[in-house]
Amino acid sequence: MIVRAPRRIIAETAVAHSALLETLRKNLPEASLQVVDRIGDGWGRSPDVVEVVDFRGKFLKSCPGTRCYNCCGYKILHLGTQCSIDCAYCILQAYLNQPNLRLFGNLDEMFSELSGFLSQNRLGLHRIGTGEFTDSLLLDPFTGITRLIVPFFAKTPNAVLELKTKTNFIENLEGLDHGGHTIVAWSLNPEEIQRREEPLSATISERLEAARWCAAQGYFLAFHFDPIIDYARWQSGYGQTIERLFEAVDPSRIVWISLGALRFMPDLKPIIKARHPSSRIIYGEFIRGLDSKLRYFRDIRAEFYGFIADRIRRADPELCVYLCMESDDIWRDSLGFCPDERGGLAPMLDRAVEKKMGIAPVTDLGFGADKPRASE
Ligand code: SF4
Repeated sequence: MIVRAPRRIIAETAVAHSALLETLRKNLPEASLQVVDRIGDGWGRSPDVVEVVDFRGKFLKSCPGTRCYNCCGYKILHLGTQCSIDCAYCILQAYLNQPNLRLFGNLDEMFSELSGFLSQNRLGLHRIGTGEFTDSLLLDPFTGITRLIVPFFAKTPNAVLELKTKTNFIENLEGLDHGGHTIVAWSLNPEEIQRREEPLSATISERLEAARWCAAQGYFLAFHFDPIIDYARWQSGYGQTIERLFEAVDPSRIVWISLGALRFMPDLKPIIKARHPSSRIIYGEFIRGLDSKLRYFRDIRAEFYGFIADRIRRADPELCVYLCMESDDIWRDSLGFCPDERGGLAPMLDRAVEKKMGIAPVTDLGFGADKPRASE
């Protein structure tokens, strides 16, 4: 995958002297810089622009799961928005009032919010990821943010960081003190779907090669078959991708694999049609789910999940496989159990972290726990 360097930086005055802007300028010497008081919405879409704003919202949020389906208790670390990989199905396309790549320049405030949260929530285990509103590594060659957050998580006793990407921009991960607290995760699809629906992303071979390299650097891995897309040769396509996955990496490094069939809000359909005319994804048959999203019929979803989970279990029967936002009956039909039978989805994923990464949920703070740790 070729790194696409932004050619124009627009920064808000409040972050004009931030370390992030300084790093961007150093790594993008050709890019022009414009400083403005406030970046409004509707500046026009351009993959060549990166905006650096003074973010006033919450950096740490609960994943917007839904009460209607099993939710995994994940937390999102919000570092920026939008993504120029521009996958046909991407939900971010609906955020058209904010179309450009946007980074939050006040990273010092992000770290203080994150430290505050972790010191006030010392019990349990926190699974935190950055790849919800953008790709975790897309701009990392220019921002170097992983060189700050990966070592930060290495010092947290009960938190793990998941970086989710469709790139192979892993150079900044080399030589970092990750302490075994970072999971690097890729979403996977058959090559044919990647070429048609995610053409600007890293190829599946590039992603698997990057995963192999990360495992050799001691990172843990995760994979997300999400969105699973219905097409004529889906069984051979997904089957081959799974074979290639286990040829590339040892399952002992994989903390979890999630499965989620294509789903989208009805509003996205005309946007996909207009912006991605060669995409076929909107021409399937869909029903509206409890969360109002359009999904494939339940039997089709259950068939996908059952098939993919079976192929994964052939490689490693113990590997943690979970469904993203599905109901108990789909879990039972496709995986043979539902999360409640194993204590709930969040504890299931916590156990996967404990088993693979050796990081257990904290259950007892013990004597003197209110004193700050040396590492904080
Ligand atoms: S890589 Fe992820 S965030 Fe980027 S366009 Fe594709 S789906 Fe959206």
